[in-house]
Amino acid sequence: MNLILLAPDDFVSDHEVVLTGRRLAHVLSVHQATVGESLRVGELNGLMGSGEITELSTERLCMRVVLSESPPPKQPVILVLALPRPKMLKRILQMVTTLGVEHVVLINSYRVEKSYWQSPWLSEAAIHEQLLLGLEQARDTVLPKITLAKRLKPFVEDDLPDLLLGREGWLAHPVDASECPTHVGRPQLVAIGPEGGFIPYEVALLQAAGLKPVSLGARILRVETAVAVALGKLLPLI
Ligand code: SAM
Repeated sequence: MNLILLAPDDFVSDHEVVLTGRRLAHVLSVHQATVGESLRVGELNGLMGSGEITELSTERLCMRVVLSESPPPKQPVILVLALPRPKMLKRILQMVTTLGVEHVVLINSYRVEKSYWQSPWLSEAAIHEQLLLGLEQARDTVLPKITLAKRLKPFVEDDLPDLLLGREGWLAHPVDASECPTHVGRPQLVAIGPEGGFIPYEVALLQAAGLKPVSLGARILRVETAVAVALGKLLPLI
């Protein structure tokens, strides 16, 4: 936890917060902080700054906070991801939040197992928890947008054109693709397929919508590795 994220409920006055639970446990066991020390804090979707510890016990942590710094800018990248298996989804959501992706669209695909859409890890609360962990890691306060698109064709026909306005669009695909560009620096969208890959019909649909197939190398990567490699190549170094 490189930043303690503060929610509206934590504030007992304009500049004072009281924390319990996971964040208190972390400060006690990992930071091993004491009264008078300052910790890095940030208001969810707001400014960052420091919090001076005014009281610390196993029951509660009280801090006087000063918030004046802007969070880092989001990366101008939309990730369109075929819904992965739940455990992988958790890790990917955390990772892409840490990397600063601005919007993640989870899509259906022929080779996405139907049961994945029923997973408790897709609940709003479970997704929110993973996003918080990603923000705390990165020292960011702004949540990425998460959208679920359970039907691929309507998404591609109705929503994708708007998402692509002013953006370059890439389809990570291991065959018949040109080399993935690096550190593009302009707004982008990248689509990553399911474990079994997109079927030819889906590849054609996404290509017709304007996504250009790009290769991440000759090796076939697991979904979460493909996400990390694609973003590592495409994202500007900020
Ligand atoms: N057998 C599947 C295929 O041929 O498409 C492999 C799917 S791979 C495990 C899952 C997804 O990761 C793919 O749909 C693609 O989006 C991405 N991916 C994995 N390796 C890739 C590579 N070398 N180049 C481009 N995309 C890749």
